[in-house]
Amino acid sequence: MTAATASPAAAGSAPGVFGRMAAQGHEDVHFVSDPASGYRGIIAIHDTRLGPSLGGTRLWAYESEEAALTDALRLAAGMTYKSAAAGMPFGGGKSVVIADASRIDRPALFRAHGRAVEHLGGRYITSVDIGTGPDDMVHVRRETRHVAGLPEPFGDPSPATARGVHRAILGAVKHLRGSDDLAGRTVAIQGCGHVGYHLARLLRDSGARIVASDTVAERAQRVAREFGAQLVAPTEILSAAVDVLAPCAFGAVLSATTIPQLRCSVVAGAANNQLQRDSDGALLEQHGIAYAPDFIANAGGVVYLGQEVLGWSADRTLANVDRIYDTVQETFALAAEQRIPTSQAALRIAERRLESAGAAPS
Ligand code: NAD
Repeated sequence: MTAATASPAAAGSAPGVFGRMAAQGHEDVHFVSDPASGYRGIIAIHDTRLGPSLGGTRLWAYESEEAALTDALRLAAGMTYKSAAAGMPFGGGKSVVIADASRIDRPALFRAHGRAVEHLGGRYITSVDIGTGPDDMVHVRRETRHVAGLPEPFGDPSPATARGVHRAILGAVKHLRGSDDLAGRTVAIQGCGHVGYHLARLLRDSGARIVASDTVAERAQRVAREFGAQLVAPTEILSAAVDVLAPCAFGAVLSATTIPQLRCSVVAGAANNQLQRDSDGALLEQHGIAYAPDFIANAGGVVYLGQEVLGWSADRTLANVDRIYDTVQETFALAAEQRIPTSQAALRIAERRLESAGAAPS
């Protein structure tokens, strides 16, 4: 296995790896190759002021090494803000593995990844992300203990993520309406996958009416059958006339094109990077929509890892997931006080925490 801290492949593209790291504040980026297993991984460590960097492993058939690097840098920075805002003692990191999932020897590849993670000596703790699952982490675990998201004993974090999104919805509705009673209110769920399904159950239990959609018909039908959701076509979910829209499918769903079509007063969901551009936070506000920023609303999954990584009890973990309600309210209050969009207020809350860690005596 060979490793380098700056990729020749990424060099030559302006402004270059180091320029991009400096611009976004990354501490280190590791490029690791293991030809025997076909492993080509990038591990980006953004910020470790609050603790070891933590973030999942994304496996994707990237169209270029440049695209993989861009994703790793962006996702690692996102993890810094997510953990900081959630009050977790973790920094931000992420790995991407460039591979075609249909053509890999998963045990060999994930063991190579485990060796790459081990090499960092605990500065980075990995877990699951798009393209990887708990079974892959079992292979990683054979090489390093710096891994979470294993099948046992804690398993899938999605129910915790859904619980956090539910708390974010309650917090946003409370801010807007003065009461967090969801009885009689309608919530649209875009994507009835791991998170969307559990969110639907929590919303049903809160007395909310559910409108749902999924491109995989059986996932939507299950939510209709079990929780009485009204189903609409994927092309109609964003413009459904509802109180709350919960994006739980994919990122960049809120844009200059889609925002004018929304007919909700709150957006709070699980998807990462919901805003296509930073300016879309202000656009939502102009349209009178209260936005619970994505990395605050969907932090339940990262908090859930507190059990596995920090030895937290289930009670402590759930209490921290539930605090997302308060963080959402704090975000709305700061946005109002400073006259900034909630997306910016969320970043300030995270940055304050990072700065206070930096100022602490060692
Ligand atoms: P998932 O893949 O299980 O579910 C996503 C669902 O969205 C799928 O059922 C898919 O068919 C559906 N979908 C795709 N395109 C759609 C469209 N155009 N309209 C309607 N539905 C569509 O993923 P998940 O684990 O439930 O995560 C959902 C989102 O939340 C993702 O963006 C993920 O990155 C993010 N997230 C998840 C977690 C977690 O704990 N699982 C934590 C934080 C963030």
